[in-house]
Amino acid sequence: MTPVERFRELLSIPTVSRSDPAETDDAAFERFHAALERLYPRVHERLEREVVAGRSLLYRWVGTSPGSPLVLLAHQDVVPVDGQEWQHPPFAADVVGEGSDATIHARGAIDDKGALVAILEAVEGALAEGVTARTDVWLAFGHDEETRGTGAQAIAALLAERGIRPSLVLDEGGAVVEGAVPGVAAPTAMIGVAERGVATFDLVTREAGGHASTPPRLPATARLARAIDRLRRRPFPRRLVPPVRAMLATAAPHAREPLATLFRRTAVSGPALTAALSRLGPETNALVRTTAVVTRLEGSAGENVLATSARASVNVRLLTGDTLSDAAVHLRRAVADPLVDIELRHGSDPSPVSPWRGEPWRRLSRAVTETLGADTVPLPYLQLGASDSRFYTDLTDAVYRFAPFHLTRAERDALHAPDERIRVDVWLRGIRFYRALLES
Ligand SMILES: [Zn+2]
Repeated sequence: MTPVERFRELLSIPTVSRSDPAETDDAAFERFHAALERLYPRVHERLEREVVAGRSLLYRWVGTSPGSPLVLLAHQDVVPVDGQEWQHPPFAADVVGEGSDATIHARGAIDDKGALVAILEAVEGALAEGVTARTDVWLAFGHDEETRGTGAQAIAALLAERGIRPSLVLDEGGAVVEGAVPGVAAPTAMIGVAERGVATFDLVTREAGGHASTPPRLPATARLARAIDRLRRRPFPRRLVPPVRAMLATAAPHAREPLATLFRRTAVSGPALTAALSRLGPETNALVRTTAVVTRLEGSAGENVLATSARASVNVRLLTGDTLSDAAVHLRRAVADPLVDIELRHGSDPSPVSPWRGEPWRRLSRAVTETLGADTVPLPYLQLGASDSRFYTDLTDAVYRFAPFHLTRAERDALHAPDERIRVDVWLRGIRFYRALLES
């Protein structure tokens, strides 16, 4: 069997995460575990394996020396495909095209079985060639990253309990891309050194209620609508945070003028740069400010009944340095209405920032340039979404978010969307990256 055949088999098992755990198809996860055992016999013979939190998997490859271990994260679950129209069935893992165009179409091809299977291929290959691990290597494969993250949380707690201090934790996150930084033509490996916090706040208005035939001057719904509009018109302030500053400074030698100079001198050019980044598009805007967007609205249960309360859920993504309480203060000021309550439903502060110098960073950068292209520039960056890695930041400073795949804009847009796919060559190169990292 070839690596691609093993990958296709694992992609064809629909390990779909559901927000209601009762709706999760347990049998699919059992089939997935059984397939892993069958497809990676050396991994299962030579590594210690534990099942954590029901369906998460933790493997330990015991090293020959006692140094700090390497921890590789990935997740087994994928997002649902309900209501999406795919050109190829999402769990058929069809290979379309030939040669360098050959592409595997499947839910999870990138997120995150692409990484999970590439890691196993790298370890299995190393074992087959008699390679030993210098220090311990842990493989931690959560089962509910796309919903609650309980698997990763349980594994991180277990490692903490055992006093394990990793030298490097690597999770999914950035990829090798083109055009991510204005003025830089070379491909860049976007290695997440931090991620934004995520929170949901509710804006709530209340009133006596009554019949819709005799509405008050400013009903709860209208007061809420006014609050939502005020919030939209008063976004969080812009600023250049350390991981974004580091991205620009590291990119400077590869950028064309005059951008190179601006990137080098962010102390002076900061305000102009943040203004430009925020205007450039939603992704770059999210790098320079905490963002807030209303995602859900609730009002009366009946067409002819006044709402006794109206509620808007605001999804907030916190920039490095902002806290949940800073966000609450801004929301209160923006809404500027004491009759609108602001309630924190749940949330977490932004992650700490991992260093973009020092041995762990160099180890990652070397693996990038050795296997993904000598002209590829490793760049620290601020990851916009949340990943399982946030649970590991208490174990070590060196937590990084990067999947070793060279992806086009269209391929990145297919994450969580129809037609998720990865080019075969790109995926195979990813295996070489993990192998280089294991042997570094
Ligand atoms: Zn993922």
